[in-house]
Amino acid sequence: MAKYIVLLGPPGAGKGTQADLIAEKFELQHVSTGDLFRENLKKMTDLGKLAQTFMSKGELVPDDVTIAMVRERLNRTDCKKGALLDGFPRTPSQADALADMLSEFKSKVNLVPYIFVPAEALIERLSGRWTCKTGGHVFHEKYNPPRMPGVCDLDGSELYQRDDDKAETVKNRIKVYNEQTTPLIEYYRSRNLLVEVDGTKSIDDVSKELISLVEKA
Ligand code: ADP
Ligand code: AMP
Repeated sequence: MAKYIVLLGPPGAGKGTQADLIAEKFELQHVSTGDLFRENLKKMTDLGKLAQTFMSKGELVPDDVTIAMVRERLNRTDCKKGALLDGFPRTPSQADALADMLSEFKSKVNLVPYIFVPAEALIERLSGRWTCKTGGHVFHEKYNPPRMPGVCDLDGSELYQRDDDKAETVKNRIKVYNEQTTPLIEYYRSRNLLVEVDGTKSIDDVSKELISLVEKA
């Protein structure tokens, strides 16, 4: 049966890093809504241009637009075995929509690792983050440096610093997370799906913990 895992946590918690590390092992697709919006922006689609008006301010893209994009993505055949969702859901109404979508596939969310990192650490993580232009892979100048500065280890693409990783925008993204996304902690805890993971540990230690959780899910 397909597995759907929601990686929950603030911006900079390590969701994308971990999804990249464990997706292949479990034959799950890494579905990042942030990456999907950025790909749309690169292609200058209407969706990308609309999303950018929210992303540039660190605000959430409206639920209806985001939900429609995820529905289309999860319906593709490469998600047949399931997905590691990174950055979605971000509001209770997105979480309800996800449950409805998955029930259409006779499936459900199996596990919600909540990667906890205190706000003080997030600014440093995001201001040192370097993102791959092609595959969205992420590095950190101090905690996970690429072998060659400015070049992605995985596909050789150029690395860049996201505009919304500037301190001012990050502060708003954390505020938006606290106001709109933290209700999901209770949402999934009350459904017995939430497992807390200490995201301040090393990238390797967090991976080991997630692998063991996914194996059991
Ligand atoms: P998210 O997808 O949750 O926004 P990322 O996976 O992009 O977070 O990680 C944010 C930044 O922090 C990246 O630069 C990444 O290399 C770094 N990072 C991720 N996990 C850790 C960790 N456990 N310790 C230190 N730095 C980390
Ligand atoms: P991320 O790559 O997860 O840090 O997301 C970058 C930006 O994309 C966010 O600040 C939002 O503007 C937008 N975004 C990503 N995922 C969602 C979502 N589930 N709902 C609304 N907006 C989103």
